[in-house]
Amino acid sequence: MITLMTYGGAVAADAGGTRTGGVPLVPEDFEWPECAHCGGPMQFLLRLPLEHGSVLTAFMCQNDPGLCEEWDPFARGNRAMLLPAEGVRAATPPATGVTALGAVSGVAFEDVEAETYFDASAEWVKATGRPVRQVLGQRGGEPSWLQGDETPACPGCAGPMPFVAQWEDGHDVATSANFGGGGCAYTFACEPCGQAVFLWQS
Ligand SMILES: [Zn+2]
Ligand SMILES: [Zn+2]
Repeated sequence: MITLMTYGGAVAADAGGTRTGGVPLVPEDFEWPECAHCGGPMQFLLRLPLEHGSVLTAFMCQNDPGLCEEWDPFARGNRAMLLPAEGVRAATPPATGVTALGAVSGVAFEDVEAETYFDASAEWVKATGRPVRQVLGQRGGEPSWLQGDETPACPGCAGPMPFVAQWEDGHDVATSANFGGGGCAYTFACEPCGQAVFLWQS
């Protein structure tokens, strides 16, 4: 069984639940992440509430696409973090820099009987007649790597980091994230250590 993430329609910029785009919901002491390469503010990409009460939240730099190692799990051209689900408010993005995606997209979850993510995606398109771009990724299961296995070691406990979700770049090419053109992003989290990692391949 594969749990697909599919396009759930436009939602508010500060909507709870799982979405791509809009603004992150953050605690009082939150500081908007800056790119280690160009120093600019990062683009908020996505949020996904986890099982044990934290919310995986990911950003990457888009101020200088391709020049900030924004695909790399540890080069600090992107940033993933676990934020609390309670006691949060909509962040105010910095006034300059590329800080938001072009659309706010709700994410729906649908279980599909299939062996792999790519099989599930094809199955869903056949069954629903909806465009393949409306498959936004998968939650849980095994990553379907476009390149080699890049499962990161947890910076806290050094164990292989649990896989959370795989992400396509978006339902509309005009507002999609830049994962190198047709790439996929992969998010990992170790909730006991409070650590999260983001990377993409194309
Ligand atoms: Zn940068
Ligand atoms: Zn850990």
